[in-house]
Amino acid sequence: MLTSDRLSLIEGIDFHGVFMDLNDPFMILDSDGFLECNDATLRVFEAETKDQILNIHPSQLSPAIQPGGRPSVEAVEKMMAMALKNGSHRFEWDHQTVGGRVFPAEVTLGVIRGGDHPLLFAQVHDISHRKRGEMALEAATRKAQLLAVKANQASQSKSDFLANMSHEIRTPMNGVIGMTGLLLDTELDPEQRNFVEILRNSGEALMSVINDILDFSKIEAGKLDLEITGFNLQEVISSFSNLMKVTAEEKGLQWRWNIEDRIEYNLMGDSGRLRQVLTNLAGNALKFTSEGWVQLKVEKTEEKDDSIVLKFSVQDTGIGIPANRLSRLFKAFSQVDSSTSRKYGGTGLGLIISRDLVRMMGGNLAVESVDGEGSNFSFTLPFKKQDPNLVKGIKGVAQNVVAHNQPLEMKILVAEDNPTNQIVASRMLQNMGCQVDLVTNGKEALKALENNSYDLVLMDCMMPEMDGYSATRKIRDLNSNVLDHGIVVIALTANALQGDRESCLNAGMDDYLAKPVKKMALRAMLEKYKVDERS
Ligand code: ADP
Repeated sequence: MLTSDRLSLIEGIDFHGVFMDLNDPFMILDSDGFLECNDATLRVFEAETKDQILNIHPSQLSPAIQPGGRPSVEAVEKMMAMALKNGSHRFEWDHQTVGGRVFPAEVTLGVIRGGDHPLLFAQVHDISHRKRGEMALEAATRKAQLLAVKANQASQSKSDFLANMSHEIRTPMNGVIGMTGLLLDTELDPEQRNFVEILRNSGEALMSVINDILDFSKIEAGKLDLEITGFNLQEVISSFSNLMKVTAEEKGLQWRWNIEDRIEYNLMGDSGRLRQVLTNLAGNALKFTSEGWVQLKVEKTEEKDDSIVLKFSVQDTGIGIPANRLSRLFKAFSQVDSSTSRKYGGTGLGLIISRDLVRMMGGNLAVESVDGEGSNFSFTLPFKKQDPNLVKGIKGVAQNVVAHNQPLEMKILVAEDNPTNQIVASRMLQNMGCQVDLVTNGKEALKALENNSYDLVLMDCMMPEMDGYSATRKIRDLNSNVLDHGIVVIALTANALQGDRESCLNAGMDDYLAKPVKKMALRAMLEKYKVDERS
């Protein structure tokens, strides 16, 4: 249809009537004031007659000042000028009813041409509703932000609390476990030896419960990070198995283990956490089995040039878990049967920690079990293979290790402020054939290092006067007067949370031993640096 024909379609339509029927206020105006308005205008502006609207200036339907501080008269003129210039203009505006009630609106101004001078039309849309929604949304967002800040602060204080707890618990436990170890190295009659062994076992059991609780809290607070290094799977599994075999045989059980495919290269991963998971699963298997065997199996499920996927499973012939109780296994602090905790002990955290650690390492922990017949806990984990050039280096060091019972004959400086732990550390070292000098803070350590040569420093981190971090920075500072700026410094600390290790290394320490320090771990550390020194 031609345009001229189409125009005939609207001929005769009563546009005035259409505007009058609009739901929103609609007015025609010029610079002097309103010339016409529809019924909605009267309703929205709460006017009783048209006279209250016509011939008044638009600023009289607005509060004196618009948001932003501009007088309405001036602002109205500006908006009208914009509309005349651009043909139309849409903006948000504060209006005011005849009675003086202010409401927010969205206004569209448009130009009507054709007459002697251009007129404007104004359509006003009350947006009180939308504004209230926006304000509520803004308030809700502010509240959510506030809550997030508070939650963050809470999480921060939780992890500060954890770090503190960890330190406060480990320091005395180091005394308890260390002292019982020393006592066992002295002459005792059989009954006394039995008592001290019980004491040591109880100390270690307590420490493992505390470690579980700390680990669980760390995972909950998202503060647990993996430590990825190169490791030899054969070595990890065989040393782990040798340990488990002893426990199994003590209970009259058979310990079986096999690695289906020999894996000659080193893997990249967190071997400590892998061992922790295996210890948990095997510990449970041994705990809940009274006859038969427990088996650790490692199978290769996938292999590429630079990576491998392994399936670990720990199977037992123990009491099993009823099918309807399997779902309870991974609930914190829960045991399959509450009588279990009285009979077998345990916090009910081991499996959750294991499940979370396995997840963090990229796998999933699964369980199959038949009530009365036994259980099988398994998980698959992906590993990257380590660069073979690095593997040679590691093997080289391992071959040079000093025989385990030979005296170490190292001269060691111990900086430690806690009197009990001073005795523990110095006696352990003396028993390994080391000569020991003791100091109680970082300042004294620096003085000792200015006057004597040592093979190695064992440095507590938190000490009065000068802490271990500052003391180590001074040692490494070439302007300080210590005789050997490159001396090996091992952190000996009760701060065992992730991140503490980094703080130690950042301060220039060479390595890190967490309290309570075990004789074996201390010896291994000394051997490591004695060997390094010679080569
Ligand atoms: P706990 O420290 O109490 O052993 P876990 O989280 O390691 O905590 O285990 C939770 C519960 O799961 C155990 O108390 C036991 O009821 C059940 N369970 C775990 N492993 C086995 C298993 N190998 N055989 C039978 N029951 C098991």
